[in-house]
Amino acid sequence: MPEDVDRTQPESRLVASASRWARIRSQAIRELVALATPRSVLAIRGSRRDRTRRIAITFDDGPDAMTRGYLDTLGELGIPATFFLIGENAARAPDAVADVVRRGHEVGGHGWSHTPFPALTAGALLDEIGRTAAAIPVPIRLVRPPCGALSMRALAQVASAGYRTVLWSLDSDDCRTRDPHEVARRMSPARVRSGDIVLMHEMQAWTLGALRRAVPVLRDAGFTFTTVGDLIDGNRCVRD
Ligand SMILES: [Zn+2]
Repeated sequence: MPEDVDRTQPESRLVASASRWARIRSQAIRELVALATPRSVLAIRGSRRDRTRRIAITFDDGPDAMTRGYLDTLGELGIPATFFLIGENAARAPDAVADVVRRGHEVGGHGWSHTPFPALTAGALLDEIGRTAAAIPVPIRLVRPPCGALSMRALAQVASAGYRTVLWSLDSDDCRTRDPHEVARRMSPARVRSGDIVLMHEMQAWTLGALRRAVPVLRDAGFTFTTVGDLIDGNRCVRD
């Protein structure tokens, strides 16, 4: 679930600064794990050499009361996105899930209870994945582990259940600030690269504000927008 860091307090800035290095280290570890893992099992981004400069925007933790606002904003911007839904939220809001699908977006699983996969027994993990898939009215192929927490056992189990684990290559940091300008800066053309999978979250008005600012700037810089499934399937050479 999103965490908040109050950047107005010096102590919090120190925490934010330290956690930024931790996040950079985590991203480096994800890149290494992805290099050592078949692409059919784990994907963290698409091709860096994609001439159409495709990227994929992703939203975790929905659906919720703001999902339709997200769909309206995406519609205004004219871009598709990928929603990684928490199973128990999806079961409570089937109409919202149906709207996400009907409006042409991609849906993946994000666990049933948002418990990190490495903390679950093998049986509980498969149960969470299966119940989440059953709460979504279209077949899903992608699963994003809650909090991005990985273990080799969980990766293997998700793959054996027929799903591909998806992480991200660019964190918008929309869990760490409520300033839409700051989130938009984290998604500026200077930071985004072709093939990026961008991590964002539902339930946050500032995330929508950041999207409205960032997407036109990225588009002007030549980036195009697609779903994660298209981004990671649409090219063969992803480890460039
Ligand atoms: Zn989450």
